[in-house]
Amino acid sequence: ETNKASYNRILLKLSGEALMGDENFGIDPKVLDRMALEIGQLVGIGVQVGMVIGGGNLFRGEALSRAGMDRVTGDHMGMLATVMNALAMRDALERNNITTRVMSAISMVGVVEDYDRRKAIRYLNQGDVVIFSAGTGNPFFTTDSAACLRGIEVECDVVLKATKVDGVYSADPVKNPTATKYDRLTFDEALEKQLGVMDLTAMCLTRDQNMPVRVFNMNKPGALVTVVRGGDEGTLIEN
Ligand code: UDP
Repeated sequence: ETNKASYNRILLKLSGEALMGDENFGIDPKVLDRMALEIGQLVGIGVQVGMVIGGGNLFRGEALSRAGMDRVTGDHMGMLATVMNALAMRDALERNNITTRVMSAISMVGVVEDYDRRKAIRYLNQGDVVIFSAGTGNPFFTTDSAACLRGIEVECDVVLKATKVDGVYSADPVKNPTATKYDRLTFDEALEKQLGVMDLTAMCLTRDQNMPVRVFNMNKPGALVTVVRGGDEGTLIEN
């Protein structure tokens, strides 16, 4: 029974930056391959995997707008960036023989299919990985919000937010060596202490819809599988 997963269906959120590896822009194919292998392990133990990938390795609307660009145009570029990342991830997954669907919140005929909730659930039930791209389709939102929204819509058991650190800390562990890691938090505690787990939109959505979120370190080999088997990695945030 040690092989058994404790979740049937998960929503895995990767930041765009996670795809950069040691570079400071773009996509590192080595990183994609490593992630594809880890995701393949989940599929192998029968877990249904939905994914949202950010776009911060390519474009962020906020940064573009700080440089003078119209914010909504910048957000559109950011959302298109997430589609590019999704295509790259699909490519890596399919090279590892994992059937993968990319759905987009913005129509892109001939490139990816439109987001359709019922179709997504059918794909997940048949064991395909589904990557939800183009965020929510709306400016002023983030891919954390998109991950929480899709996770709730397609009835995932948990949102797994992959980060560069081991979980949620009382302060930035890089800047403050006395920072301590939380194993568990309630949404209200995380909000009250302003721990910056995700943006407020995502936090309120998951709190109100009672969707647990686990923050963990994807750079730690095997951490993803440990999390899915119910192991104590990172920080669990729930009501
Ligand atoms: N974005 C958006 N609406 C959404 C999701 C994303 O406008 O629903 C844009 C926004 O400009 C954002 C960019 O896409 O900065 C990339 O997403 P995000 O910053 O969440 O990526 P990550 O930080 O996870 O790499």
